Amino acid sequence: MKVTQYFEKAKGKTLISFEILPPLKGGSMKAIFDTLDPLMEFKPPFIDVTYHREEFVYNKRESGYYEKTAIRKRPGTVGICASIMHRYGVDAVPHLLCGGFTKEDTENALIDLSFLNVQNVLCLRGDARKFEGKFIPETGGHKYAIDLVKQVADINSGKYLDGTISHGEPTDFCIGVAGYPEKHFESPNINMDLDFTKQKIDAGGDYIVTQMFFDNQKYFEYVDACRAMGIDVPIVPGLKPITKKYQLNSLPRLFFINLPDELVKAFTKAKTSEAIKEVGIEWCIHQSKELKKKGVPCLHYYTMGDSETIRRIVEAVY
Ligand code: FAD
Repeated sequence: MKVTQYFEKAKGKTLISFEILPPLKGGSMKAIFDTLDPLMEFKPPFIDVTYHREEFVYNKRESGYYEKTAIRKRPGTVGICASIMHRYGVDAVPHLLCGGFTKEDTENALIDLSFLNVQNVLCLRGDARKFEGKFIPETGGHKYAIDLVKQVADINSGKYLDGTISHGEPTDFCIGVAGYPEKHFESPNINMDLDFTKQKIDAGGDYIVTQMFFDNQKYFEYVDACRAMGIDVPIVPGLKPITKKYQLNSLPRLFFINLPDELVKAFTKAKTSEAIKEVGIEWCIHQSKELKKKGVPCLHYYTMGDSETIRRIVEAVY
């Protein structure tokens, strides 16, 4: 079923969903099942699986020169989606990227997904590769997420890249896109960012999943701003608990988000790693309860393989 159909069926009740990362190359599906098994009692209608493009690594050779190699550290998104759907009977939402894909690669991936009965995709641009200052699209690939959305919308209407296919079987993907309550870091300002987000929706986006945030007010303001400019699709808040001290610095650096004063002060007072984890969990419970009370369509948790923490949060909220 489509993500948006789940929202319609829920009739205002807040659903719950999880996002997982594929294991590092060499790992197995067991790691995924170990994360998801303890969470399935909460009956998530869908589970997102992130996509990780190849990264360049530089290995020093005997001559002293460095050899550049492309390595995909977390392959397997499509297989994991199929496996999740088969084991749990829930829908899986693969993330699709512009980065690393030509349009043909994308089309072939969409055909595979459609044949596997995957009905949802989250369309993203992807980040710049390490050692590249800015996002560089693949030759023959897409530059922005909107172009990927358009390609999925095209194939949904039976329009394939190969112009000789005149009556192509239309796919029926529900299309999710990313949104940023604290603005995407490359955007000059929030209005321009919202404008591009609206374009993604107008091009075929069916719903938005937000970047993590730690101040609910930012999410509420974001939703208001989206509504004011005519974005009327469901906006799913993405939530992540902080469980380790270093995340106080790494999350703002990696995700371009702010941590509220009150949260930072509470972390500063916490002296042990257990106390820090408790602060992070309590904060996320508080965020979740408030969002649920306001009737958000779904609470979407970034699990990062830590099912124990996510379980505690969801148990306290539902
Ligand atoms: P876009 O919507 O293309 O926007 C990128 C930037 O370009 C923005 O600043 C936007 O304002 C600007 N822009 C958009 N259109 C135009 C235009 N026409 N002209 C000029 N500027 C424009 N990354 C992964 O690698 N794998 C994942 O699985 C993954 N999952 C994610 C899930 C969620 C919910 C979120 C919020 C992010 C995820 N990301 C993932 C990270 C994401 O790929 C990055 O944030 C990336 O930098 C931007 O992706 P986007 O789809 O928002 O890009």
